[in-house]
Amino acid sequence: MIKVKYNVKPKNLVIMAACANVGNELNIEVTVTSGMDGKHSPSSLHPRGDALDVRSKTLDSEFKMIFLSKVLKRLGKSYQGFLEDEGKVNEHFHFEYDPD
Ligand SMILES: [Zn+2]
Repeated sequence: MIKVKYNVKPKNLVIMAACANVGNELNIEVTVTSGMDGKHSPSSLHPRGDALDVRSKTLDSEFKMIFLSKVLKRLGKSYQGFLEDEGKVNEHFHFEYDPD
């Protein structure tokens, strides 16, 4: 587990570490599909380096929820994550640092 003080950016590194650890634990490949790039909503935390998207479509549905819950448990309550656009072409995990 890596801890990063609140004023150290980007939080993406913490999210990445949690995803990598859970990927190793479950023996699944983790692919980060978007960081500060790409088109996101105006309120998105991606441009700040506080959000990462991770590929979900290659995982079986049961693994998706296991992966999500394990990553969120590692990240703690200052982070949020969910399966965005579930069942659609653009489906992916979205994780972000959002302590508010
Ligand atoms: Zn996202």
